[in-house]
Amino acid sequence: MISDSRLEAIRAEFPILGRELYGRPMTYLDNTATSQTPRRVVDAVVSGYTQTKANVHRGVHTLSQEATGLQEEARRRVAAWIGAESHEEVIFTRGTTEAINLVASSFGGMVLGEGDELILTVMEHHANIVPWQLLQARKGFSIKVVPIDAEGRLDLGAYRSLFSERTRMVSFCHASNVLGTVNPVREMIAEAHRRCVPVLVDGAQAAPHLRIDVRELDADFYAFSAHKMYGPSGIGVLYGKRALLEKMPPYQGGGEMIEHVSFSGTTFAELPFKFEAGTPDFVGIPAIVPAIEFMEEIGLDAIAGHEHALLEHTTERLLAEVPGIRLFGTAPGKCAIISFLIGDHHPYDVGMLLDKLGVEVRTGHHCAQPLMEHLGIEGTVRASFAVYNTIEEADRFVDAVKRVAMILG
Ligand code: PMP
Repeated sequence: MISDSRLEAIRAEFPILGRELYGRPMTYLDNTATSQTPRRVVDAVVSGYTQTKANVHRGVHTLSQEATGLQEEARRRVAAWIGAESHEEVIFTRGTTEAINLVASSFGGMVLGEGDELILTVMEHHANIVPWQLLQARKGFSIKVVPIDAEGRLDLGAYRSLFSERTRMVSFCHASNVLGTVNPVREMIAEAHRRCVPVLVDGAQAAPHLRIDVRELDADFYAFSAHKMYGPSGIGVLYGKRALLEKMPPYQGGGEMIEHVSFSGTTFAELPFKFEAGTPDFVGIPAIVPAIEFMEEIGLDAIAGHEHALLEHTTERLLAEVPGIRLFGTAPGKCAIISFLIGDHHPYDVGMLLDKLGVEVRTGHHCAQPLMEHLGIEGTVRASFAVYNTIEEADRFVDAVKRVAMILG
């Protein structure tokens, strides 16, 4: 675990962690939905508004060049951070959702047709289901779904057997936002590549916790959101292999993404701008850099180790001390996400009572209704840890769950 003094210094960077709710210290355990933001990221946004605000890529004036420099520096830093070969393979989007929509619409539109097949898994977030269904309605391909076992691990035998000569694309999450399961991404990609099938990885839940190396994984596309990794909201990243991105048609049309426009025909800009129509979030994008620096300073291994210790401690206590607790997702090596129910009590009741005790958790289907259907439940209560969480907070959470279990009877 991270030492107490180090943790204190880390927490001091997050003003929001000092809040109280209902006269108690706030215990924020909804990090899977969004993590909190260190002051250095907030400072970068403030500086973007107070010092360098100018639209990018369009101006000869100093301010515009400074803003453009900051944005393009952020692209380079993101590329280096995920191990991309070139910064031109990094496309800024609004989030994971937009990144997946981009790939589904542009690449999927190219490779998936009548009679073809796409492989997804039952643990996908709606963001990695619905964009494909929208395309399916236009193109008429079928979607095959990889099931999970009782611990929440993908059935890799079933995965292999779902491939056919009509499989054109595979898309799955690196880590599940409900079960916490970390999928064997490298092996799964290799399996698809043996059949020359490209793969998109939804990295929304992996990027905040695991070191990502897109080239080592050999991912064709990799998507994630900055707001879940201590960064600004409203910004995401799509990594794509250059050879694929170059073949793909633009996703949206507008300014920034063109080379030349005329009514007799338009030519498009080079990568990555071909996929970045309109004014980007040029204030937010540079603020990804301090978020990456924050994680690098602590170290991804230290972050994962700390969160894992909190997960183990909390899981052990919940199982030992809360009668009727039901955990969903117990795969070895999972992320620090605990999805649970207390007996048959509705997750909203549990979540609302926990909130009154100052504990912020998420309740409901977590945008994974097919997974809920598979588990035979409507929803869960979900507590998830970030690097700034402490053992005291984990204990406060377990004590609060015990109290809620007693109240609900
Ligand atoms: N995929 C997964 C696994 C997620 O957890 C989330 C966010 N809950 C998303 C995709 C969508 O991310 P965003 O809302 O930031 O686009």
